[in-house]
Amino acid sequence: MLLCPLYSGSTGNSSVLSEGDTTIVIDAGVTGKAFLYALSQCEIDPCSINAILITHEHSDHIKGAGILSRKFGIPIYANQKTWNAMCGKLGNIEERNVRVFETDRSFGLGEIEITPFKIPHDTAEPVAFSFAAKGKKVSIATDIGHVTDKIKSALQGSDLLLLESNHDVDMVKKSSYPPELQARILGDRGHLSNENCAKLLCELYASGVKRTILGHLSRENNTEELAHATVSRILANSGIGADYMLKTAHFDRVCGKFEV
Ligand SMILES: [Zn+2]
Ligand SMILES: [Zn+2]
Repeated sequence: MLLCPLYSGSTGNSSVLSEGDTTIVIDAGVTGKAFLYALSQCEIDPCSINAILITHEHSDHIKGAGILSRKFGIPIYANQKTWNAMCGKLGNIEERNVRVFETDRSFGLGEIEITPFKIPHDTAEPVAFSFAAKGKKVSIATDIGHVTDKIKSALQGSDLLLLESNHDVDMVKKSSYPPELQARILGDRGHLSNENCAKLLCELYASGVKRTILGHLSRENNTEELAHATVSRILANSGIGADYMLKTAHFDRVCGKFEV
């Protein structure tokens, strides 16, 4: 499989995953124009996209989904509660392009098996995804209020992981954000801090996870350097050697092509 994180951050999220003739978009939280620009940077033809999968209805995950579906006839996949919450925001979607999956039930698209699994976040029924093909596994998990056993088991054994490293807790507490917003970000159904991301990675490392892209960084309460340094330090302190890949996705441009 080939993963291209196009945009990742609190301002908009979208990634593309492909295997053979199957090309899947995970979230389309940027404008159609920005999406198509990033896609061209990855040399991917928008007409080759088979599906847009939606994790949850926040605008940084769905902004461009409606327009892309209409322009290229792409089916949108989400669970029923997410459809109920987002359908008024997408514009008109042709009925044949409305596809419903069930959380915690795997389904196939071409050569890729997709498993949507539940995550704690302040939306109707938020999910993250694992993808399996040809004995390899890729997982994308962002917008995680706290780490659950379900998340740990779902991410185990991933050959490549895009994982949220949203904020530095001190930066949030010292930010100009009103107390309610700070509480939302730091809360159980908000976002994963750099420290908690690192702690999860320490556990996942034992199951063979060695290639991670940090994503969904807050533009106000984090920097790429800080997220990377914090996670690296915690991994080093836990006795994990240097035998791993740790990259940071960008909010405004393609991060690269990653093959498993
Ligand atoms: Zn969200
Ligand atoms: Zn988000």
